[in-house]
Amino acid sequence: MTASTRMLKPGDTIGILGGGQLGRMLAMAAARLGLKCQVFSPDPDSPAFDVVQHATCAEFADVEALELFANDVDIITYEFENVPSATALVLAARRPVLPSQKILETTQDRLIEKDFITRLGIGTADYADVSSVETLHAAIARIGLPAVIKTRRFGYDGKGQAMIREGDDIDQVWEDLGTKSAILEAFVPFEREISVIAARSCDGHVECFDVTENEHRDHILKISRAPAAIPAELAAEARSVAEKIAHALNYVGVLGVEMFVVETKNGPTVLVNEIAPRVHNSGHWTLDGASISQFEQHIRAIAGWPLGKPIRHGAVVTMTNLIGDDILSYEEWLTVPGATVHLYGKGPPRPGRKMGHVTEVVPADRK
Ligand code: AMP
Repeated sequence: MTASTRMLKPGDTIGILGGGQLGRMLAMAAARLGLKCQVFSPDPDSPAFDVVQHATCAEFADVEALELFANDVDIITYEFENVPSATALVLAARRPVLPSQKILETTQDRLIEKDFITRLGIGTADYADVSSVETLHAAIARIGLPAVIKTRRFGYDGKGQAMIREGDDIDQVWEDLGTKSAILEAFVPFEREISVIAARSCDGHVECFDVTENEHRDHILKISRAPAAIPAELAAEARSVAEKIAHALNYVGVLGVEMFVVETKNGPTVLVNEIAPRVHNSGHWTLDGASISQFEQHIRAIAGWPLGKPIRHGAVVTMTNLIGDDILSYEEWLTVPGATVHLYGKGPPRPGRKMGHVTEVVPADRK
């Protein structure tokens, strides 16, 4: 049995590594298609546990628990990209793991990821490998300031990164970052941030959702709008970049590609910031704003089923994240005409914690 030939049938079980809101929404999409899910997460309060009948609460290093989990499921996927390599290897020896372990290795490390994107001839911010304060000074001399320093691994929502501006104490920045493994990126004076959510099937067919425009607050996604207010040619370029990446990775499932729109003397173009090998927050609008959601698309892809052709409902779809105390206003959102409220069933709100989101579809006649 290979990952690419196995086709799930209704009633089969998908194993999901990670129990956050992405796992929860994947499991709900799978249920709609008659598939079961079993969630593996070390956190007993995982929001995804609430929506599945079978869950494994164990550490990712617990080989025995991983083996039992693998035996219970037909195929395995994940909802976050920092699944340890060793975990994926134990599982892959027993069941197909999609997307593959090799893809995790590329996307878990910002340097390997940027080298991979560059080899494809796709633009990124100028970047340099930084492994010591000396190499940081040399990188700044080459790239200039302002610049952004990022840890190579385990960074998300702005964690593990810092802006460096003219006049900053470089030695102190390096010490504060607390790693020996980082990259320096030129600061990109972007016009806007966009993302493409793409799905690739086992037989190599790719479907992209409408390009989405993203606004961040405190480095965390706050609002997404689809379609992005960009020229059609630029949207086509962005989709083709995502498609090229999906093919080059021999990807199966949904991936999110975050991009910066920058002005050049030849007009606007895109630079890739990051690849997320999973469903992505900027694709949540598809739950209510398109004929097929990113979650269902991912399930179909890994199940070996045909992808859907996503058709957007309405002229514009907006997704607003409820972060931290934003959740306290959920009752107000419930009364907003046309709004659809999604609450993740998490415990107490904390600053930066994604607690839910709201989608609003603006019909074409009210654009
Ligand atoms: P990341 O963790 O790489 O996705 O970065 C989080 C956010 O920080 C991005 O969505 C941007 O808003 C900002 N950012 C990251 N890298 C850069 C860069 N090289 N230039 C400008 N802004 C950046």
